[in-house]
Amino acid sequence: MQLDYSLKTKEERTALVQKIIDEASPSQLTPHYLEILGDYILEPMTKEEKKNYTLLTKNRLVTINKRETSYEDLVSKFENGEDGLYNLIINDKNVILTPKVSITQDDINSIPGLKELRTETARIEEEAKRATGMRKFKLKKQAIQMHQDQYVLKNMFKQPIYSTGAAHSSHSIQLNEKIWFDEEGEPHDDGLVSLFNPKHISAILCNYALLDEGLRNKHSSDFHYLLEDFDVLLGKTLKDHPILLDIVQLKIAGKQNIEIQKILEEKYQVKYSVEYLSSLWRNKIPKMLADRAREDYILWYYTEVEVGNWKKCSCCGQIKLAHNRFFSKNKASKDGWYSICKECRNKKYKEKRGK
Ligand SMILES: [Zn+2]
Repeated sequence: MQLDYSLKTKEERTALVQKIIDEASPSQLTPHYLEILGDYILEPMTKEEKKNYTLLTKNRLVTINKRETSYEDLVSKFENGEDGLYNLIINDKNVILTPKVSITQDDINSIPGLKELRTETARIEEEAKRATGMRKFKLKKQAIQMHQDQYVLKNMFKQPIYSTGAAHSSHSIQLNEKIWFDEEGEPHDDGLVSLFNPKHISAILCNYALLDEGLRNKHSSDFHYLLEDFDVLLGKTLKDHPILLDIVQLKIAGKQNIEIQKILEEKYQVKYSVEYLSSLWRNKIPKMLADRAREDYILWYYTEVEVGNWKKCSCCGQIKLAHNRFFSKNKASKDGWYSICKECRNKKYKEKRGK
């Protein structure tokens, strides 16, 4: 049975999809096909139903109306209407949806409607966590769309800045089911794929080329966002480790250890054994990435979700989170932590040993 794009309402389309699902054999209902069916149902919503959507704030409604006006204008300029526009939108989406900028507190304060949109996004995400089946799928899709809309909104008010190079920042989507802290304050993620887990990181690295090809342009997939987050993580973690970054890039490009050994020798005058290269790639680099991902999460959590206990190091004067990662525990002190940060403690310890 064919999808009939002349059907204009969500109800008509849902009824058709129901028929298709009833008649299809289970093997025909691949995740990819279900995604197409989901898109098919959701597509007319952007046109009429969203206007009556109770979730929308006034400001967001204005945004959507503006977008629709320009969209209709554009469509009318194409001989074959929407079909002719399809590629253009896809390209345009890529520009909008690969922001190398993140939404800052300043944005939230200054862009009208953004704060409300973020609150709603969080609410939908919460709802998605509790939902099951098709409803969960739809809610997740909606949450992703709302995340994207935040950037659309930002782009309307502020010219996006595209940075180049490895150390760029980006948005991060928190759709993980369950993240919990252990007694040491380290976060753990029980999700299917977790950036906190060195084994998962290693699996992503080993299959990077394949994932990149398959998911880079699939904005409706959670894995697309995972890959975006992964790139950012890679850039941040390895920006001060040019040799390790080179190893990752050469590995992803499919080079053998023996070739990488030669390239590094010529470029950096270092000689790494192939075994050492292999252990960097398999163990050290994934561990560094997972460690950084956990640290980023801790800092994000104690800024955005819960107000953490932040204290000033009495040595370097920097304000750091009172957490195992930044301060050592000290039962003798009032707040349970040493007054100087771990970094300063390590420096002092090294100086003492050096003397
Ligand atoms: Zn310090």
